[in-house]
Amino acid sequence: MLSKDAPVKILDFTPVQLAEFVKSFGEPVSQADVLLKSIYRECASTFEEMTGLRHSLKEKLAEQAVLGLPEPVDEKVSADGQTRKVLFRLEDGKTIESTLMFSKITRTGRVRHTVCVSSQVGCAVGCNFCATGRQGFDRNLEPGEIIGQVLYFTRRFGFGGSGESQKSDRSWLTNVVFMGMGEPLANYDNVRQALAMINSPKGFGLGLHQVTLSTSGLAPQMLQLASEGLQFQMAVSLHAANDELRGRLVPVNRKYPLGVLIPACREYVAKTGLKIFIEYALFSGINDSMNDADGLIRLLNGLSCSVNLIVGNPAGSNEFNPSSMDAAHEFQKRLIAGGVRTMLRVSRGADIDAGCGQLKSRWIKFEKD
Ligand code: SF4
Repeated sequence: MLSKDAPVKILDFTPVQLAEFVKSFGEPVSQADVLLKSIYRECASTFEEMTGLRHSLKEKLAEQAVLGLPEPVDEKVSADGQTRKVLFRLEDGKTIESTLMFSKITRTGRVRHTVCVSSQVGCAVGCNFCATGRQGFDRNLEPGEIIGQVLYFTRRFGFGGSGESQKSDRSWLTNVVFMGMGEPLANYDNVRQALAMINSPKGFGLGLHQVTLSTSGLAPQMLQLASEGLQFQMAVSLHAANDELRGRLVPVNRKYPLGVLIPACREYVAKTGLKIFIEYALFSGINDSMNDADGLIRLLNGLSCSVNLIVGNPAGSNEFNPSSMDAAHEFQKRLIAGGVRTMLRVSRGADIDAGCGQLKSRWIKFEKD
């Protein structure tokens, strides 16, 4: 029996679950599609304003359900206007961050709108260079709390700019990346459920190659995802080519050392036919020497992958300073000479605390002060 004290959150449902829910009220299953269209295409914020929804269903929903949209409480826009970071307050008062990034592909002139979502409140992995890691783990996000982050940006910007009462431009959202707060594979079931909605034509309708999961290296969950036939782009945050250094930077390496992680990457490639993205944030004097580059070349030998070198986003740590651009270019040249496909990326939105967890860190400090 559903309780009035704990309303059901519609955003937590996949299309199949929503159909079951609507059916449980004795309403036609087709009403679930009306609900989805109202939420994902027509920008409705209340059940009352949903056109095509039967009056009897509106009444039942008003009694027992809520949409579960997130509440934005802070926002920062980078000086170049290309990166926008929003802090959301969840129902229990916890806060998470999401980022919207605009970019233009030089070669084709196509515009990309990428939403970077959080999957947990805090993170248990505890990477030493990461503001989220230093906040510790609080809880997993529900599927609707993940979906709500994407929905916020599509409703606000995917409607020709002004939002309300216009139809959604379905092609606006081009990519979703799980690179915000949290380790997505440590919240496996809820992330999987959110992915189903991101992928569904009744939700955001993104192809699997438009969605990237970034993991600190949870090898068993990577392989579980691949064996379930869910073939998303996988990005592995490597940051070091030997266990001693990686154990310092990404402590989960002690559980899944490189001898386990790299074979898992090879198996992921074999199972999915997709190459792996290797994320490598460059920190001055820590992991940016030519020895480090040579170690990486040896480690990745024969793996179908592309390395993304990131000039690290300073997260208020004295120990980890970003490498210089000169050092980053030298590192990139060495990898390319060693046969490793390598891109160099400058971390986006450094002027707006766009490194994961940084805006939240400032918010916590602000609330305490
Ligand atoms: S970098 Fe990612 S996995 Fe590591 S602590 Fe931060 S959020 Fe967690």
